[in-house]
Amino acid sequence: MSTTVKKRYELPFTGVKEYKMFINNEWVESVSGKKFDSVNPFTGEVWAQAPMGEKEDIDLAVKAAKEAFETGEWSRMTGSQRGKLLRKLGELIAENTELLAISEVVDNGKLIREMLGQVKSLSGWCDYFAGFADKIHGETIPVEVPNMINYTVREPLGVVGAIVPWNSPLLLTMWKLCPALAAGNTMVIKPSEVTPASILELAKLIQEAGFPPGVVNVVTGYGKTAGDALAKHPDVRKIAFTGSSETGKLIVKNSSEHFARVSLELGGKSPNIIFEDADLPNAVNGVLAGIFAATGQTCMAGSRVLVHESIYDEFVEQLVERTGKIRLGNPLDMDTEMGTVAFEGQHQKVLRYIEIGEQEGAKLLYGGKRPTTPELKNGFFIEPTIFGNVRNDMRIAQEEIFGPVVCLIRFKDEEEAIAIANDTQFGLAAAVWTRDIQRAHRMVPKIKAGTVWINNYRKVSYASPFGGYKASGIGRENGSYVLQEYTQVKSVWVDT
Ligand code: NAD
Repeated sequence: MSTTVKKRYELPFTGVKEYKMFINNEWVESVSGKKFDSVNPFTGEVWAQAPMGEKEDIDLAVKAAKEAFETGEWSRMTGSQRGKLLRKLGELIAENTELLAISEVVDNGKLIREMLGQVKSLSGWCDYFAGFADKIHGETIPVEVPNMINYTVREPLGVVGAIVPWNSPLLLTMWKLCPALAAGNTMVIKPSEVTPASILELAKLIQEAGFPPGVVNVVTGYGKTAGDALAKHPDVRKIAFTGSSETGKLIVKNSSEHFARVSLELGGKSPNIIFEDADLPNAVNGVLAGIFAATGQTCMAGSRVLVHESIYDEFVEQLVERTGKIRLGNPLDMDTEMGTVAFEGQHQKVLRYIEIGEQEGAKLLYGGKRPTTPELKNGFFIEPTIFGNVRNDMRIAQEEIFGPVVCLIRFKDEEEAIAIANDTQFGLAAAVWTRDIQRAHRMVPKIKAGTVWINNYRKVSYASPFGGYKASGIGRENGSYVLQEYTQVKSVWVDT
């Protein structure tokens, strides 16, 4: 029996999709009745509209989440009951993989083939954290005080505000939702105004899974209104934020008014370090995946490639040759290899950085333009772009471009490679490509970054902590460690 492989995925509807937002298990418009558009970056046309949530809507959502936490059915559930709901959500995500993936592709222009894999992986997050839901416990502590028993309990924080960006809305929401709910918190999620759709599709599955009213709420709207109101709300006990370092600073300032906890997953300018003894074709694969996946719009993008001077020319030749073969096209086509950037403002920003790179004297080795072929002309496409002869003090090497632009920088020895790698405000990730395992291990403690990949790039897992040093963030997501970020400890003294 032959199976046909789908070549192009389609939206399961025509016309502009009207979304409502999700508060207290109900689908509602915003209090003001206003809406905003979501533009498909491949066609440049509006494909969906979502409610313009503002402070009043955030207030309603936080109220629902607070009631659910304090007195609702959720507050009486056991860990294993919470775990069952999370597992059910995982099953529903798996059953609805295509719709979730398509919604995100049409919202932000990343590839359907990448999104299908990413959505499939999300059930793993549900199962992993469901497993923890009934294993979050304190300990008995042998205190020196006579006739006393002391023990601790780990309690949820209360209402968690999750503020997420446009580049991976579903994945970055699930990184927060799974541990937050496993630990017994409730949530208000504020998606990016660029990409509300996939999180609203997820909310339908949250409702279908049977989470009680108010446990998860989604308020769509702009950062400076809805996001700001959520960060400032006195009943929110934690803000879990992923986004730019600039917004991260504001979140810290605003949430500090009422001493809410924060975790921040911010930007990056990650170095991909290629030594002279690296397996070169493998390293070239890692560099391509590191910078051109999701059109370079990932926090972990390997946007600075540090190449040993003795192999620089050979590396450039291989990289340029492989980059020239990358197929740009409709992100809903299974054979497209690079999609668009997510929206017009980002498109302009990336093209501006390409101009800056040329003005700074970097050598444009490949790409640099908006393609003009008929199929691509309406989309926010940018050719995969390689700059050679980059100095690390150039703006293109220091500032996060968040697009398909890679900077190649030469180094002469290990010491210089480390100095260049760490000469950045960021510290999210790094990679080392070498066949010398001792050298690789020597590099690890010297690199100031939250993740180091050795002879690979971009690997993440629900079981492994992810987060940044320096301006790349505070706190970690994923792994058992993250449960500490969603619980607080109570110390109990018993007179015997
Ligand atoms: P952004 O900071 O502009 O927006 C992120 C979210 O914050 C959006 O929902 C936005 O509406 C909201 N927001 C904006 N202003 C706000 C305010 N004043 N108060 C409260 N909320 C506000 O970031 P972006 O452009 O959507 O995303 C790209 C950035 O995200 C990049 O810097 C990227 O590196 C970073 N990112 C980091 C990670 C990570 O795990 N470290 C992952 C993905 C993206």
